[in-house]
Amino acid sequence: MRKKIVAGNWKMNMTFDEGQTLTSEILNMMKDEHSGDAIAVLNPPFPHIYPVKKLIGEAKGVFIGAQNCSDKESGAYTGEVSTKILASFGVQYVIIGHSERREYFKESNEMLAAKVKLALAEGLIPIFCCGESLEIRTSGTHEPNVKFQLTEGLFDLSPEDFSKIVIAYEPIWAIGTGKTASSEEAQDMHAALRRHIASKYGKDIAENTSILYGGSCNPKNAQELFGKPDVDGGLIGGASLKSRDFVDIIKSF
Ligand code: PEP
Repeated sequence: MRKKIVAGNWKMNMTFDEGQTLTSEILNMMKDEHSGDAIAVLNPPFPHIYPVKKLIGEAKGVFIGAQNCSDKESGAYTGEVSTKILASFGVQYVIIGHSERREYFKESNEMLAAKVKLALAEGLIPIFCCGESLEIRTSGTHEPNVKFQLTEGLFDLSPEDFSKIVIAYEPIWAIGTGKTASSEEAQDMHAALRRHIASKYGKDIAENTSILYGGSCNPKNAQELFGKPDVDGGLIGGASLKSRDFVDIIKSF
């Protein structure tokens, strides 16, 4: 059975105190209200990782992730953070290839493939993001376009390594815009990606790969999205900054 995952992407938000308060509130609500099997992954900015991880402690079903990692192993790369450093701080997940990194920081498929390999080598679980622009969606070429992102970023991996990957389908036109993909649009793409994975790695691995949806997911639309057979959770931006909304999304399964 594939894992149900709700990952919060705090992006470049939250001071130290705000991050501590948000985490404590999420942990308390999860403890009191959440009895399902969906897990939460908190992905704060780098300086929060250690203190947030300490707050999480042994809490059940809550994990810590990073929003990015370097495509270099170590050395003279000022400002970068390696997967080895992340792993040494107990980080469990890492978001790779978010559309904001692809667009603003010009991260290529080649760089992303290198990051994925370094993450896996350190035992981190990559949350690999893919998704099309509005222009591509309008042209009707979204499916081959997003499949290509998977092929380029991931299909070099061995079956054993691929089976550790989590995928997040995030249509760029839905990120931070308040415009969500319909549950049918999400389902169609998730099913297409699962077929694409099956064509390379076989049905078993495809069936066991968690594919999350991201793009203006909130407590009002989460239930419908997560109700689709190939949607295994969400990557949540804006709504992950509010404890009530984030936990309500987790409870939407
Ligand atoms: C994201 O940035 O991954 C995201 C899905 O953002 P939002 O939920 O704000 O659209």
